[in-house]
Amino acid sequence: MNKKEMLERFSLLEKRFQELQEDFVTIKKDLVQLVEENHQLAHENHHLRQRLDDLTPDSNQQEFKTKDQHKDSNDPSIGEGYDNLARIYEEGFHICHVYFGTPREEEDCIFCLKFFG
Ligand SMILES: [Zn+2]
Repeated sequence: MNKKEMLERFSLLEKRFQELQEDFVTIKKDLVQLVEENHQLAHENHHLRQRLDDLTPDSNQQEFKTKDQHKDSNDPSIGEGYDNLARIYEEGFHICHVYFGTPREEEDCIFCLKFFG
C-alpha cells in the first residue's frame, strides 16, 4: 500500500467516523425525546390511575378491562363514576377498555361510545 492509498483510506475512515458521530448525536436526541415522552406518559398514566381510583372507590377496577360491562343502576356510586368517566371522555381521553387513558383524537371513539350506549 503506497502513501497516497493510505492517506485516501485514512480520510475515508475520518469521513465515516464523522458520519457515525452525526448519527450518534441524532440517536441521542431521539433517545432524550423518547425518555421525555415516556416520563410524560408515565406521569399522565399515574394521574389517570389516581383519577380512576377516585372515581371508582367501591367497584373493582378490573371491570373496566373486561369486555362485558354490566351496569348496576341500583348502585348510586356507579352512576357517579359514570358521569366522571363521561367528563374524562369530554376532556379528550379514552375511557374504553381498548385505549383507556390515552389521549383521544378529535373524532369520537366507537369503543368509548359503546360505553355510553
Ligand atoms: Zn376509546
